[in-house]
Amino acid sequence: MNSKQLSFNTFFPHSHFTFSTSTSVQEYSKPHILKKCIALLLTCASSKFKLKQIHAFSVRHGVPLSSPDMGKHLIFIIVSLSGPMSYAHQIFSQIQDPNIFTWNTMIRGYAESESPRPAIDIYKKMHVSSIEPDTHTYPFLLKAIAKLLAVREGEKVHSIAIRNGYESLVFVQNTLVHMYAACGQAESAHKLFELMPEKNLVTWNSVINGFALNGRPNEALTLYREMGLEDVEPDGFTMVSLLSACVELGALALGRRAHVYMLKVGLSENLHAANALLDFYAKCGSIREAQKVFDEMGEKSVVSWTSLIVGLAVNGFGNEALKLFKRMEKLGLVPTEITFVGVLYACSHCGMVDEGFAYFKRMKEEFGIVPKIEHYGCMVDLLGRAGLVKKAFEFVQSMPLRPNAVVWRTLLGACTIHGHLALGEVARAQLLQLEPKHSGDYVLLSNLYASEQRWSEVQKVRRTMLREGVKKTPGYSLVELGNCVHEFVMGDRSHFQSEEIYAMLAEMTKLLKLEGYMPHTSNVLADIEEEEKETALSYHSEKIAIAFMLINTPPGTPIRVVKNLRVCADCHFAIKLISKVFVREIVVRDRSRFHHFKEGSCSCRDYWNSGLHESHGTC
Ligand code: ZN
Ligand code: ZN
Repeated sequence: MNSKQLSFNTFFPHSHFTFSTSTSVQEYSKPHILKKCIALLLTCASSKFKLKQIHAFSVRHGVPLSSPDMGKHLIFIIVSLSGPMSYAHQIFSQIQDPNIFTWNTMIRGYAESESPRPAIDIYKKMHVSSIEPDTHTYPFLLKAIAKLLAVREGEKVHSIAIRNGYESLVFVQNTLVHMYAACGQAESAHKLFELMPEKNLVTWNSVINGFALNGRPNEALTLYREMGLEDVEPDGFTMVSLLSACVELGALALGRRAHVYMLKVGLSENLHAANALLDFYAKCGSIREAQKVFDEMGEKSVVSWTSLIVGLAVNGFGNEALKLFKRMEKLGLVPTEITFVGVLYACSHCGMVDEGFAYFKRMKEEFGIVPKIEHYGCMVDLLGRAGLVKKAFEFVQSMPLRPNAVVWRTLLGACTIHGHLALGEVARAQLLQLEPKHSGDYVLLSNLYASEQRWSEVQKVRRTMLREGVKKTPGYSLVELGNCVHEFVMGDRSHFQSEEIYAMLAEMTKLLKLEGYMPHTSNVLADIEEEEKETALSYHSEKIAIAFMLINTPPGTPIRVVKNLRVCADCHFAIKLISKVFVREIVVRDRSRFHHFKEGSCSCRDYWNSGLHESHGTC
């Protein structure tokens, strides 16, 4: 193939482009043209268009792209412009003796691309070619490893970095901390962090983010405080990690303080940080504050719109979520697959079956989004909630994807609520294969039998559960008061205000009974709970948490609880009445969804038994 025949349309992805190697470097007799090409290349770092022109120029003058100098610059420019790595690789493979700069550029290019795996292969090849890595090799290589979550590779690179004496460099250490944190090794990241004599903002961010991402919010907050003590000023990245730790703990007041700080230093203008803030308020059940952040954002991205749509939907404001979606459409913004999870969820919550199906269709046909298991889950929930259990089952059977446990659990939940035993058993049989030891499924099944008053079956489920050693996860509830997040477990008496709390619980029961509350017996469905059954002496953690907040906050203050399990039927009923009797808005975020209790009713419309929400990671 003659290089002059090349079309520049083939420069971009999916090209099957090869370039001429017929002219070797030695043969090329016009070094001034080569120099000119390189000089031109160096000026075009900001324009793909210009790169094409220079490429054309060099081809016209027969400059071999494989000359180490030309190749080196060309690869560098492609990588800097996030051009196709396949093209960079083709040039790379033609260069006879690429220098360390070129090797590093290739590793960097792959590390920053969507498929970083070849970065490791190139590093290995480099080793085989006896090229010693330098300080610039490690940060990008480790970045690729972090993306691939290849912690074993990371450990190997770590030990080589030690051997080569690069471990002590701050930026190498930072990428090591980041790599361990990203791979879920928060301990290793922290250990390394502690040993670092010199820490900069990136270091702090890496380790705080590591803890925040790996389910260790308390450690993330502690480190954030330490960072303040060492006079390191947080930036947008720090705030994103901090807010995600606050979400996990339901620490609304702390997040609000972060918000004030962001306003003060101008970080609220930072799009990522503002999106994190919006998301934080939505996930802490304070949807009005989320709305306010959204309204005040100077610049909004699709992520901002999506966060608020999903936030409104899961907080029980389905209609508002759909309205917002329509506004988004009008502005010509392109919704993502997550936006549609929110939209479908909103339809489900509002009982809008036809609209839900219409959106599902549009998502596929108009926006070309291939539905994921989450979208199918939403559709099953949509049908199940509307009482169309049989249709839901047919839908599951017609899915092109293999239904996962969440889909079957959603169906089982619908069967339980609408009393459809035969289909419930089918769903249960599937769940038994997919996740045999999921305690929640035993609860759903036993509730299903209980709803049909088949008590011997209920007993059988209970016995199987004991025999199989299915462990119930201990329940706990978190509430934030002042600067602290207080954690309560069932029957908790460890709190210093324990006496007052139990007096309040007794008072609550007394007042609720006047409103028609019958503890534990009012709901036959509650025969097996997700956690141990309450007794008069041993209350579920959310009730204890609410009693604690009733004592310690002024009348009318909303109460927010984060619970790790699903709220049981008894507590759900009790909290509805508490919201009325004590005139308090109570928001409970449990494992499956949000419950906004107000004036005796709940935003979930008493439909909370399905497990749908678990897979979305939105709460
Ligand atoms: Zn309960
Ligand atoms: Zn509810």
